[in-house]
Amino acid sequence: MTYVVTEACIKCKYMDCVEVCPVDCFYEGENMLIIHPDECIDCGVCEPECPPEAIVPDTDPQAETWLELNREYSDNKWPNITRKGEAPADADTFRGQEGKYEKYFSANPGNTDG
Ligand code: SF4
Ligand code: SF4
Repeated sequence: MTYVVTEACIKCKYMDCVEVCPVDCFYEGENMLIIHPDECIDCGVCEPECPPEAIVPDTDPQAETWLELNREYSDNKWPNITRKGEAPADADTFRGQEGKYEKYFSANPGNTDG
């Protein structure tokens, strides 16, 4: 069991989730975060902290599509993130938009933890 970050995070990246995760299992891309499925302890505390409701349990029907992306990029592609960085200035503009993966997904890694 794990929680999964969906495309609702793309370009919203508020990073409130990072602060609350007890096992630091978030990983950072250029414009979204993901969860390492093998490190998540399924505690659920991050889910209500996410403003655009991008985090879902893997029992949610939406999760299946995004689980593979979370696994692929957290496994050696993107760096671990342990502290909250600054949200993008235009984050609210992208909140709730449909089809963000096709329009904006970036495979580049993020660098908040330096
Ligand atoms: S709080 Fe939600 S939108 Fe923000 S970085 Fe975490 S998963 Fe993404
Ligand atoms: S469910 Fe718990 S362990 Fe998993 S990512 Fe969220 S806060 Fe971290």
